[in-house]
Amino acid sequence: MTDCIFCKIAAKQIPTKAIYEDDDLIAFHDINPAAPVHFLIVPKQHIATLADCSESHAALLGKMMLLAPKLAKEQGCGYEAADGSIGTGGFKTLFNTGPDGGQEVYHLHLHVIGGPRPWRGQR
Ligand code: 5GP
Ligand code: ZN
Repeated sequence: MTDCIFCKIAAKQIPTKAIYEDDDLIAFHDINPAAPVHFLIVPKQHIATLADCSESHAALLGKMMLLAPKLAKEQGCGYEAADGSIGTGGFKTLFNTGPDGGQEVYHLHLHVIGGPRPWRGQR
């Protein structure tokens, strides 16, 4: 998609400091953070919304979800629990889908939002 901002970031047409990158995914800090830590995990392939995903995207979606706690830990908002009890730290994971879901950029992305309280993430 030539006019898609996240395609341009993935293609390095817009310089953005990646916190993670591989053949399938890129992750970078949100330009307008809703919390002390707020980054986006974005597939390099253009998919408009979560509702456009099918079985063929299951592995990609799984990879995005499994990357979230790893990067959250690196970025200082990981969740730690010693023995299955309630631990410390933590983060929200969020896909906004469509106008009523509050989606602004129509290129699939997973928000990871966290950091030390106090903050009240409403997103
Ligand atoms: P949505 O509402 O679509 O789920 O969220 C899109 C997110 O992308 C917003 O939180 C917004 O701040 C972020 N964003 C939009 N444009 C850019 C950009 O050019 N660079 C970065 N790093 N984040 C962006
Ligand atoms: Zn795109």
